[in-house]
Amino acid sequence: MDTSYAFDLKLVCGGYCYFSTYTLGAAPDSEGLEFRTPSIVSNTGFQKAMQDMGQEYRIVQNASSFYEWTCIQGWALVDISFARDFIPHWLRKRKCITSPFGSFTDINLISSSVRKRTFRGKFKKRILDRDNNKCVICLNTNGLTLQHVIPYSKGGETSYRNLVTLCEECNQKLGAEYHRGLFNLAGLSGEIEVSLLRSGKFDNTAFSRAVQFSRNIMHSRSDMY
Ligand SMILES: [Zn+2]
Repeated sequence: MDTSYAFDLKLVCGGYCYFSTYTLGAAPDSEGLEFRTPSIVSNTGFQKAMQDMGQEYRIVQNASSFYEWTCIQGWALVDISFARDFIPHWLRKRKCITSPFGSFTDINLISSSVRKRTFRGKFKKRILDRDNNKCVICLNTNGLTLQHVIPYSKGGETSYRNLVTLCEECNQKLGAEYHRGLFNLAGLSGEIEVSLLRSGKFDNTAFSRAVQFSRNIMHSRSDMY
């Protein structure tokens, strides 16, 4: 076997499996939500990437290695014909929002507040407080608004980790475009799933692998069987 599906099994709970998987995307819909489908990876390429990031993984190719994996969890290369036969529902295409880490989250997994354009006052206050009640660009303290870093129109989430404080003028100037520098200005981390870097691996190779993985990973959930 030279190719497989790649899954990171996170949790088995209440008859569901929560996992992340390497995916391919299709063009977003009118709301900016992208369809992602678990994609086949090269075993050699995947193994090299795992090694670079200091991650462990296992091989799943039959029922017994599958059951063992559901207990121990973590990354696995899953044999293609075994996956199609045994867990076909894990391979479905899903509509996703885009997380600040570049990864994708199945909309069936998200809280309804994360896909609302607006938010309640308490939530807004928490973000204003984090940004010291100043525009993160010009430090203006008047007419403050919140802006999505990954734009709402491009499938970005409405969350603490994707919103920054801007004055109206700066907000207007930036428009509905993605400005990655805003993450840094607000002290947030964007563009990488930090969990991909294990074993104290923070060199350049590990970092660029993790960025590449982050942009292709979808977080989802399926019935166990
Ligand atoms: Zn400003």
